[in-house]
Amino acid sequence: MDRWTEARIKDTAKIVEVVGDYVELRKRGVEYEGLCPFHNDRHLGSFKVSPAKNICTCFSCGATYDPAGFIMAKEKVSYPDALGMLAKRYGIAIDSQENIDYKPVRREAVRLPMLVMSNDIVRATIGGDTDLTRWLRSLPWSPEQRARVETVLRDYAVGSRGDRVVFWQVDEQGRVRTGKAMKYMPDGHRDKSVNPGWMHNQPGIREQFDLKGHEVEKVPFGLHLLNRYPHAAINIVESEKTALVCAIAYGNSEQYLWMAIGGKAMLSRERLEPLIKAERRIYLWPDKDAIDEWRDKAKKIGVDNIKLYTNYLVDWREADGPKADVADIIIRQLQGDEGRRT
Ligand code: ZN
Repeated sequence: MDRWTEARIKDTAKIVEVVGDYVELRKRGVEYEGLCPFHNDRHLGSFKVSPAKNICTCFSCGATYDPAGFIMAKEKVSYPDALGMLAKRYGIAIDSQENIDYKPVRREAVRLPMLVMSNDIVRATIGGDTDLTRWLRSLPWSPEQRARVETVLRDYAVGSRGDRVVFWQVDEQGRVRTGKAMKYMPDGHRDKSVNPGWMHNQPGIREQFDLKGHEVEKVPFGLHLLNRYPHAAINIVESEKTALVCAIAYGNSEQYLWMAIGGKAMLSRERLEPLIKAERRIYLWPDKDAIDEWRDKAKKIGVDNIKLYTNYLVDWREADGPKADVADIIIRQLQGDEGRRT
């Protein structure tokens, strides 16, 4: 079979008709739904057929197919055989039996609906003290900075769950995507013996959601403040703690707004998309050990508005360590440099 015939079959085969040969479908809005033929499905709602995308997808078992893929999975046949069956169904002549490869439908082509958590879940966590918030309050801030501590904790919706601090990820439209629960020690360092946990996945919370049927789309920490500062450039740091320290030390303003990407490896075009879409200038403030990695990523993201900012490192001292970030340097300076560092 040649590529032209393959394309003709693909253009002609209608997913609703092909799936409809096997599954009873009913129209629901712009899509159709039925019971998924690939898992033991007993309730409508998981298996959807989209005429517009010409694919079917099951939000329970993940099966995602175009017409040929559906035939391959259902009849357990090869791609050329599936095309042959479709050609027959639609009366398309095939002259040769040359082998061609099947390109599976990419899962990303079908995104699940986004998980949005209720504000009540956030509210229930606000106000509790943790080792991190106590430590933040205990730093030797200037009076001007000290006046900002509570405002920053409130603005960033810092919460608590047990002895863990919760960094909520709320988008620019106020939708709560998830939160990260992390354990810190009284000295402000992370307690690495306790893994971070996602709030949507916590017992007592996860039961409220159909997690399999939704996509958890993470956003920068502090994104919900975007519209409050409509012209601010965005300073992106690695950790949530650093964003809080910087917001207290320098404040947020019409000039710049502090956000955290949530970890060195989390920097990506996808995660920055809301900022790119809003055409904000973005300054990346990598930790000392992430400069090269973030420079490479910034290049790959390929947007003019992104710049790497490492000038803060002129204040770096040996004692700050090889992984120092801007918060470490601010705090060392607050504490009167190395002399008074304990
Ligand atoms: Zn299924």
